[in-house]
Amino acid sequence: MMAEDAAESLLIEGRLRQALENNEFSLMFQPIIRTGSTEICIVETLLRWTNGQNEKIAPDRFIPVAEASGLILDIGRWVLHAACKQASYWQQTRTIPIVVSVNASPLQLASPRFCDDVQAAIDAADLPPSLLTIELTERLMVEEDAITSANIRRLTEMGVRVALDDFGTGYSSLSYLTRYPIQCIKIDRSFIAKIECDAQSRALVQAIIGIGKSLKMVMVAEGVETQEQATLLEMMGCDYLQGFLIGRPVSAAAL
Ligand code: C2E
Ligand code: CA
Ligand code: CA
Repeated sequence: MMAEDAAESLLIEGRLRQALENNEFSLMFQPIIRTGSTEICIVETLLRWTNGQNEKIAPDRFIPVAEASGLILDIGRWVLHAACKQASYWQQTRTIPIVVSVNASPLQLASPRFCDDVQAAIDAADLPPSLLTIELTERLMVEEDAITSANIRRLTEMGVRVALDDFGTGYSSLSYLTRYPIQCIKIDRSFIAKIECDAQSRALVQAIIGIGKSLKMVMVAEGVETQEQATLLEMMGCDYLQGFLIGRPVSAAAL
């Protein structure tokens, strides 16, 4: 790590410690639609941080710091509660059910109290568990971990769905699919970005969708930015689409 990166991380960590108390976090929601329709069925919650200096800090900058310092456990608990509350509000006010998909850090998944946190958030919001999905990423999750496995199993028993995020970027993608009860695969946007112009990427995405479908998984394509990509993905049999073409992350009120 470069010296200025280390200094920046320290600065962010110091400010992150106060961020929860000072109410500096908020959630944005990005729509996910069923391929070929325009109806929003799922929304992904994306964390936003505006610090005391009124600067917006991108998740890619502060989440790694929150993970390295362990602060992600408290922050993640806040996200779960806020997301379930919003999901419950939509359940009461909308005719079409919306599933809310929440990102969880591998550090949260490896914590023995994670499922209790999820259950507490569901209970506090009085939310049907089937309206919550937990997105887990392979990032940081290379080795088999007993607590993580038990947590993923328990989530499924609780009626919460589990999605594998950023699929294709990790190290052991395929073995995860049979090791854990996962219901949904989100194909990483780095593959989707190239399907129009690169036959190899197109073949790879087609193969990933084929594997997912044969394992009865729900397939979501991330980072769909053009109509051509959406059309190709529809032809390939991808179930759901997410990306700037469908909609950017917006506040709950704007969704
Ligand atoms: P992610 O889970 O892969 O989330 C999708 C990211 O891709 C979001 O960035 C979203 O704004 C962006 N995106 C969506 N559609 C498009 C598109 O069509 N094109 C492009 N170029 N980008 C698109 P964001 O909000 O900056 O989040 C970055 C990452 O931070 C997330 O990646 C996720 O790993 C992490 N993150 C966000 N919120 C949370 C959270 O509450 N908890 C944890 N642990 N991680 C979070
Ligand atoms: Ca995600
Ligand atoms: Ca992703």
